[in-house]
Amino acid sequence: MTATSDAAVRPTHDVLADARAQVLERGEGLHEAQVLEVLRLPDDAVPALLALAHEVRMRWCGPEVEVEGIVSLKTGGCPEDCHFCSQSGLFSSPVRAAWLDIPSLVEAAKQTAATGATEFCIVAAVRGPDERLMAQMREGVAAIHAACDINVAASLGMLNQEQVDELAEMGVHRYNHNLEAARSYFPQVVTTHTWEERWQTLTMVRDAGMEVCCGGIVGMGETVEQRAEFAAQLAELAPHEVPLNFLNPRPGTPFGDLPVMSSADALRTIAAFRLALPHTILRYAGGREITLGDLGTRDGLLGGINAVIVGNYLTTLGRPATDDLALLDELSMPVKALNTTL
Ligand code: SF4
Repeated sequence: MTATSDAAVRPTHDVLADARAQVLERGEGLHEAQVLEVLRLPDDAVPALLALAHEVRMRWCGPEVEVEGIVSLKTGGCPEDCHFCSQSGLFSSPVRAAWLDIPSLVEAAKQTAATGATEFCIVAAVRGPDERLMAQMREGVAAIHAACDINVAASLGMLNQEQVDELAEMGVHRYNHNLEAARSYFPQVVTTHTWEERWQTLTMVRDAGMEVCCGGIVGMGETVEQRAEFAAQLAELAPHEVPLNFLNPRPGTPFGDLPVMSSADALRTIAAFRLALPHTILRYAGGREITLGDLGTRDGLLGGINAVIVGNYLTTLGRPATDDLALLDELSMPVKALNTTL
């Protein structure tokens, strides 16, 4: 028998058996080449793959699901050119620049807390915060903490050390900053800043003791190898939470004409990321409705996902909060309580 090439495909059974021993039994995430093997499994292997990813999630994270709310403090008009994003001011997408006032912010936090959510993330479409935004954060975070019992997270773009320290001091509990894509693919996605600049913000946040929330978007034209590379880079960062988005092509953006990812690919990706990151909160973020639909949403929750956003995403309408909460109830997945996150 001749030597096999790198691209030789191992039997599904072997790939899954190795993943079972390494990830489920020992709690060690798959490395890049193994993630690639998983991403290349045939469609008929997807149910077994999802079942394994679900076992891994139950074993290493437990049955609880983290429920999070998200609100946009500043929408649209962003100077950056992330090619998937309808909030960039550089494209002809219809999202207009707008600011939310503090009373509305507090009201949104209260409504989010009332759903049982434990995290409320304040998002702004900016390259990084300016003085005005930092002042609003100071006022807004204090007002939310005074009004309701919920952790406050933030997503305000790239930070300098001073801003990292200030956010930590305000009591911001988690910071979201997505790497968006593999390092090798990032220049095809964003040209106004670098992957390395994003990485630098993330390491400062981590070193300041805030929880790191970092994920990205799949289905942006990257190769399957780059999808595996991205999972490995996230595993190196070891974020507390990984939001996994599927590209929802927005009209007017450079990626507006890309095809929607197939649901089999999306499910394979969910399971592969769970196997690369067995201890991380893996969150459904944007694009799941159009990629997966209702049935796929259930498959993902039984295939490694353990966090959801309630209510609207930033620029597109998500499923109503009650639908997700009813589904969690039906699947006997308890909503994580606030006191278990503190
Ligand atoms: S993803 Fe963020 S930084 Fe990029 S254009 Fe959109 S709002 Fe701006």
